[in-house]
Amino acid sequence: MTLALGIVADDLTGACDVAEAATDAGLATVVSIGAPSRVPAADCVVVALKSRTADPDVAVADSVASARRLLDAGAERLYQKYCSTFDSTDSGNIGPVAEALADLVSPERPVSVGTPATPSVGRTQYLGHLFVGDRLLSESSLRDHPLTPMRDPDLVRVLGRQATRAVSLVPHAIVRRGADAVRAAIGSTASGHVLLDALDESDLEVLAEAVGGGGVLIGGGAGLAGAVARRLAAGSAPAALPSLGDAQGPRLILSGSTSERTREQVAAFRGRVLRVSPQDLAASGATALVAEVEAALRDEAVLVSATDEPHAVRAAQDALGRERASALVEAALAEVAVAAVDRMGVRRLIVAGGETSGAVAAALGVTLLRVGRSAAPGVPWMLGERDGTRLALLLKSGNFGSPELFSTAWESAP
Ligand code: ADP
Repeated sequence: MTLALGIVADDLTGACDVAEAATDAGLATVVSIGAPSRVPAADCVVVALKSRTADPDVAVADSVASARRLLDAGAERLYQKYCSTFDSTDSGNIGPVAEALADLVSPERPVSVGTPATPSVGRTQYLGHLFVGDRLLSESSLRDHPLTPMRDPDLVRVLGRQATRAVSLVPHAIVRRGADAVRAAIGSTASGHVLLDALDESDLEVLAEAVGGGGVLIGGGAGLAGAVARRLAAGSAPAALPSLGDAQGPRLILSGSTSERTREQVAAFRGRVLRVSPQDLAASGATALVAEVEAALRDEAVLVSATDEPHAVRAAQDALGRERASALVEAALAEVAVAAVDRMGVRRLIVAGGETSGAVAAALGVTLLRVGRSAAPGVPWMLGERDGTRLALLLKSGNFGSPELFSTAWESAP
């Protein structure tokens, strides 16, 4: 099997999102949590990092190490996956990582080209401005993201602040003229970054035709990755999706996401809700919580939720410091996950939040994930193993899924 596409993703839920796109396109796809010591045999391997909010030097080092591993394993194309809402800060990490990976892919012409546009989930880019549904990025809830507040919708400017090389734009008027026009527009770039407008799937097909042939670093959201993957798969049928078989087990949901959509999902959930706060965890630890989960799981689906309104999150951060508040929640939810799998028979688990999902997967010791059935666009069930026990995990990025997801996702569980 040739490794047609190697993808370096800056967080775990984003890795699942892009793995779903590659699988749908017809590529047999595996997600490796962290750089794999041995690259698994697949058409597409996605390395899931935790680099979105890491120190830029660490993000660059981890991304380069992962990309090297993929290229050494014969990856024919390299894709830098970042968030469809361009989650980043003025110090990175999209720009610094793109420059380091472009140096690796084509040192003689270090160019990165791409777009976060993913129309299937309402992310479009026009004249370099990113829209979330019918709102500019800066007017969406991403404006107040706790770690990466996005207050400037002009991605040429945003990337310009992170990059040491020039940033240019291929506007929609050129994209509409087709792949040759896009190629010609990019052709004069000797080094730097080129952002590509895209409003719908047909624009992404044009962009994939223009840039999917290799020679430069490609990057962006799951939208462009899916279009590139479709060209590489050249019409092969999607592989049969793996299943967990009869192991049902109790239904457990862990939510450490503070995103607006997750707040709606928590509010809409009709089952037992156990709320936790960083302050309570700091005072009393998670032991009582684990016991409460165990008792409640015998009767019904249980949601353990740290999700709260922005003012409450801020209050917790003011009281404990942002990192400690996050770490307390992540460690508690991870402890619940491990106890649930080891002692309570849980085999299917929903986790909300990118950082939270990373913490839970790490605690469970899951290192490889295969793509299962989809619960919502960009939110596939993933199959992994803990000490030989097979698990189905739905790792949900903060703003994805319908408000009813915590109840409906079980219908598509593998
Ligand atoms: P999202 O995908 O919505 O951004 P993440 O899990 O990536 O979700 O990030 C949310 C962060 O906020 C996590 O580190 C989590 O531990 C932290 N967190 C969750 N609930 C609270 C809370 N009530 N107070 C403070 N921090 C919280």
